[in-house]
Amino acid sequence: MIPNTNYNQLKDSYLFSEIAKRVAEYSNLNPEKEIIKMGIGDVTLPLCNAVVEAMKHAAEDLGKAETFHGYGPEQGYDFLREKIKDYYAENNVELDLNEIFISDGAKSDLGNILDILGKDNTVLIPDPVYPVYVDTNIMDGRNIIYADANESNGFLPMPDYSIKADIIYICSPNNPTGAVYNKEQLQKWVDYAISNNSLILFDSAYEAFVADKSLPRSIFQIEDAKKCAIEFCSLSKTAGFTGVRCGYTVVPNGLVFSDMKLNKLWLRRQTTKFNGVSYIVQKGAEAVFSEEGRRQIAENIMYYRENANIITNTLSEIGIKFYGGINSPYIWLKCPDNMGSWEFFDKLLYSAGVIGTPGAGFGKNGDKYFRLTAFSSRENTQKAMLKLKNLID
Ligand code: PLP
Repeated sequence: MIPNTNYNQLKDSYLFSEIAKRVAEYSNLNPEKEIIKMGIGDVTLPLCNAVVEAMKHAAEDLGKAETFHGYGPEQGYDFLREKIKDYYAENNVELDLNEIFISDGAKSDLGNILDILGKDNTVLIPDPVYPVYVDTNIMDGRNIIYADANESNGFLPMPDYSIKADIIYICSPNNPTGAVYNKEQLQKWVDYAISNNSLILFDSAYEAFVADKSLPRSIFQIEDAKKCAIEFCSLSKTAGFTGVRCGYTVVPNGLVFSDMKLNKLWLRRQTTKFNGVSYIVQKGAEAVFSEEGRRQIAENIMYYRENANIITNTLSEIGIKFYGGINSPYIWLKCPDNMGSWEFFDKLLYSAGVIGTPGAGFGKNGDKYFRLTAFSSRENTQKAMLKLKNLID
């Protein structure tokens, strides 16, 4: 038996364990000091009432013979797919029901999609970005090239026709930089993909945070994207589903490569390897798209947006350069005094008791940057910003 030796090529996913280690050291030395977490990407607000009630009813359904549900369709129940179809229609994106696949979150499908893509493809991944794209491709042994995201391109790399990439990852709004592509920029990526016969894997996990109506929330708002892109979305940050687990993937019927229809391959993959998301969760997800659910979720997003405002206002006041935080829950700041991201991490921890995420954990271009998130409580956000102000002023 030979294991998948590509796993030897993976770097230890040391970011969060290294953070935990450094925080534990600090706590041991300073047991009485308070620590404020401003780094993790998890949400803090509970599920909204509409979702909780829908899941309670769904649990009761399962307890009665007349409404019991066993195995459901692998690609998701139509009651939820219809709601997602209507949600896209609000942005003038017409989807066929069979293009929508319900998942247990974007991370699973971002990894699983690689099952239907050849291993000889060259993959283009932005740097810095959500580390899952890199690791899942290393596991398959694909050749990876990087698109530098830096201050000179506003952390939004654009296509370079001298580079041939078969699979292109785009994350907008971006984790960790908070940068968001506009329609013209995404059109350039779509044009590049079509002229190179490439596939775009578009991660829209943070689309709900796009406040500026002129910015796209879906790649399918771009002309011809249905010929070259798959979109992954998640209810994790939109509706606090990080623990509930539900997302969706849109695989257009128009994606045909080497005479193979990707929608058909994905359906075949899912019906073979996946038995669907639980009925209770899908009922909760359906409630996210109800009138009441939409209203309640909008309140939660406003709360995080206000947190982001508090962070960006503080950074502006104390003269720290930052990106994101407007159409994104992430604030990407430039470490003061040319510090490296781990150096700044230690300084913020030891001098203010505040934890953020060092940019180096997202790629080499993140080395002098630091990620703060708007997902903390209001109280902690305010406290953390006060401490940061005292530290810098
Ligand atoms: N995509 C991005 C860019 C993310 O930052 C995350 C989570 O942090 C995910 C996907 C994963 O989302 P899910 O919870 O739906 O698996």
